Amino acid sequence: MNCQELKPILLDYVDREKNPDLCEEFKAHSRACSDCFNRFKFEVSFRDFLKAKFKGEIVSEEFINKIKTQLKKLQKDISIGEKGW
Ligand SMILES: [Zn+2]
Repeated sequence: MNCQELKPILLDYVDREKNPDLCEEFKAHSRACSDCFNRFKFEVSFRDFLKAKFKGEIVSEEFINKIKTQLKKLQKDISIGEKGW
């Protein structure tokens, strides 16, 4: 598994460990690749942050995605000129 293969499944992995084989491959890669590991850590802490902020409320996927889109725009603005994903 390489970064290109991992990118599209990363969110699936964060959301739910639905595929144990995939999880093992993911873990193996993230141990070796700090880019993907950091990305994963960001996704997890982002979700924890939302859960803490909206305690007791149901945070829908739609809502999470909306915030993420905003964040991505922000990151794009910030990281202009830097090499991104
Ligand atoms: Zn990687």
